[in-house]
Amino acid sequence: PRSSVAFRQASTWANVPQGPPADTFKEKINLGVGAYRDDQGKPYVLPSVRTAEDKVVSAKLNKEYAGITGVPEFTKAAAVLAYGAGSSALDRLVITQSISGTGALRIGGAFLQRFYPGAKKIYIPTPSWANHAAVFKDSGLEVEKYRYYNKDTIGLDFEGMIADIKGAPKGSIFLLHACAHNPTGVDPTPEQWKEISEAVKSGEHYAFFDMAYQGFASGDTDKDAFPVRHFVEQGHNPCLAQSFAKNMGLYGERVGAFSVVCADAEEKKRVDSQIKILVRPLYSNPPVHGARIASEILNDPALNKQWLGEVKGMADRIITMRALLKKELENLGSKHDWSHITSQIGMFAYTGLTPEQMDKLAKEHSVYATKDGRISVAGITSGNVKRLAAAIHAVKP
Ligand code: PMP
Repeated sequence: PRSSVAFRQASTWANVPQGPPADTFKEKINLGVGAYRDDQGKPYVLPSVRTAEDKVVSAKLNKEYAGITGVPEFTKAAAVLAYGAGSSALDRLVITQSISGTGALRIGGAFLQRFYPGAKKIYIPTPSWANHAAVFKDSGLEVEKYRYYNKDTIGLDFEGMIADIKGAPKGSIFLLHACAHNPTGVDPTPEQWKEISEAVKSGEHYAFFDMAYQGFASGDTDKDAFPVRHFVEQGHNPCLAQSFAKNMGLYGERVGAFSVVCADAEEKKRVDSQIKILVRPLYSNPPVHGARIASEILNDPALNKQWLGEVKGMADRIITMRALLKKELENLGSKHDWSHITSQIGMFAYTGLTPEQMDKLAKEHSVYATKDGRISVAGITSGNVKRLAAAIHAVKP
């Protein structure tokens, strides 16, 4: 029956203001995105990923569930990629596939919250990827900060970092970005990593590595994994979150892994059982498609070689854009020292621009990035770098 009530609710959202209109300027530059772009500014699907995906599709595999810890061929190969083929960690490693890097961090947070024997406090760098604090707080850990970035040098506050590691209560958990620190692009040198390892040892702390950019930083997956491998060689038993979003461009496929280096086979057995107990009520088991693609790339020698070349291609384009931006700024007669743009590494550059200058970049030049002065170098192209340099020079003459 038709309703006879001619009722229409009065506007509930009369107080919701209209957001700012979108910038329709054709030459606007978006340096806020955390994803790689090619030199035309377009998303990039790696040719090795296309080939691997074709192989996966034409194999006509079934769609059965993976086990709780995911696709075993994938996790095995992911472990070798991170720890190295001959690593002593491999026989005593617990590893589970995860919903990309974020999911790996969350499993790690939940595991530490449940079983870490000391105070459930995790120290993250200042600044850090914005989601770190959220992930670990939601895992029930207490989040503390350690010094990392020095505003004045636009570089590493190494002394501050070491002092904070040494000064933290014994047995604290330290979250370390393995390479291509986000958001600063500032990484310790190998020599500094050696001292960091000693400081973590002296505090009897526990190292949790986040490696979201392996290969993406230097173009060399072994070189980028140095901190993780060095810690293992030095006798630490760290845990590790891996992401394949950046280095394989598998962002939306959500491919990652969480692993724990255990003391021995017996400990491994117990930890493995608890990781499964933890993951099961979270999401039962992870998606298979992306992991199958990554597995093809990691396990097929020819595809693997091709992929390593493509990772290097992405890293090199970013390194080239850093150099070009610095050069354009110098060509414009900028008197500022822009050497941090080329010394920083990975997807992001911390420009040292103030929030006011970033605001001006957006309002007056249609150049968009985050207020903290971080720009995504992946968004720079040979077509927009001149305009970008001119805009930066205009807001910071
Ligand atoms: N850690 C860091 C430092 C990151 O920058 C990112 C991605 N921005 C991640 C983890 C996780 O990303 P994802 O979940 O897409 O793998």
